[in-house]
Amino acid sequence: MIELIHVKKSFGAVSVLKDISLRVPRGGVVALIGPSGSGKSTLLRCLNLLTLPESGVIRVGRSTMDFTNGHQLPRDKDLAAFRARTGMVFQNFNLFPHMSVIRNVMEGPVTVLKVRPDEARQTALALLDKVGLRDKADVAPDKLSGGQKQRVAIARALAMKPEVMLFDEATSALDPELVGEVLAVVRQLAAEGMTMVLVTHEMAFAREVADTVVFMRDGVVVEDGPARQVIDTPREAATRAFLSHFH
Ligand code: ADP
Ligand code: MG
Repeated sequence: MIELIHVKKSFGAVSVLKDISLRVPRGGVVALIGPSGSGKSTLLRCLNLLTLPESGVIRVGRSTMDFTNGHQLPRDKDLAAFRARTGMVFQNFNLFPHMSVIRNVMEGPVTVLKVRPDEARQTALALLDKVGLRDKADVAPDKLSGGQKQRVAIARALAMKPEVMLFDEATSALDPELVGEVLAVVRQLAAEGMTMVLVTHEMAFAREVADTVVFMRDGVVVEDGPARQVIDTPREAATRAFLSHFH
């Protein structure tokens, strides 16, 4: 469902992704772990072309973007279509503060997908129900807890009917007692067969929900494998050193 082939990205002289290749099968869940600055966010942003790599190939579903030598930069229209296939959830929610919860969830479908407002409202209510927030539909985002905001952000991403979901430290900004309610929604999406890449520092969660764990450091994949194997019995010293901070 997702494929990165020899993806490279630099910012100025700094090489942030050094030849990354990665595959996620349909319904697969990959947890991306590694120290701060290792390139995890850049990899996610390349995956939905918020950041354009300077070389490599990126595929999501049936759409392929080829950045190998001699490629032309994609047109804005093609970038937008590609991005619409991926739902992204950020650390800091990024809800539209001046819109009610349900408006936040309806906005993309109505303005981008041209769905009729009454239909978008029905879908939004069903998604809010799914994340346990139907009773907050008409509330302003600033009246919600961080965990509730993040669940709205997930509903908003799902409203675009993405083929894959990307989570960039979706629980890192939350008070500890609110982490569980967000992870429960992610866990449910995994059970429903959503293809996902999760950047996370929740190692127990990664071990439980991900099929594959990928450990990155300094722009390279140091180690990847079945989640339990990588978390419980890492092969590489660098992975062991990183994981030792979480026990
Ligand atoms: P992580 O998410 O693993 O913490 P990032 O992908 O955010 O890592 O960053 C990897 C490296 O790339 C860092 O050194 C960061 O400073 C650099 N970087 C990220 N985005 C930019 C940018 N837009 N411009 C310049 N440097 C960047
Ligand atoms: Mg990051």
